[in-house]
Amino acid sequence: LDLYTFGQVISMASLRFGQHLITSSQIFFQSSLSFAFVNIRPVVLGHVLVAPKRLVKRFAGLTQEEITDLFINSQRVCATVERAYNATSCTIAIQDGHDAGQTVEHVHVHIVPRRSGDFKRYDDVYDKINECESSLDSWQRTARSEQDMNEEASHLAAMLKQ
Ligand code: AMP
Repeated sequence: LDLYTFGQVISMASLRFGQHLITSSQIFFQSSLSFAFVNIRPVVLGHVLVAPKRLVKRFAGLTQEEITDLFINSQRVCATVERAYNATSCTIAIQDGHDAGQTVEHVHVHIVPRRSGDFKRYDDVYDKINECESSLDSWQRTARSEQDMNEEASHLAAMLKQ
């Protein structure tokens, strides 16, 4: 579904992410095979996700073309969030399968901008990514508003083009 708003064509198509529907306002980048979107419960500001458009549960199920596309776009998204959030490094992670902490059964790359001293220990970020709902702090327990996510996605979309 395409809408004409102020003379511009805005794609209103949402994309599937496992059992979730990711609204167009959360998506800041799309290629033919993958898409990048802002996280509803980020571990730090700028924690975003990149996923294949096809609903594939495990990394082993991706085609070579999908892997190439997913990682080329992850590389680009990584550079963008580093710039957007004044970070100096990036954690890139895939929890592949239930016993590795995967909760959404749709392959996705976590991209987390990092900077000096952001966590007590470097690897604490993995605990945060893994934290189950019940142990989330009050800020994270509340899912972000559509408007909040929309603003971040617009900002990242603009940065990606620079
Ligand atoms: P994992 O535990 O590796 O499967 O990661 C799932 C990720 O998806 C977490 O970072 C969640 O915050 C994120 N997530 C779940 N539902 C949504 C949603 N509707 N929109 C954006 N991110 C989501």
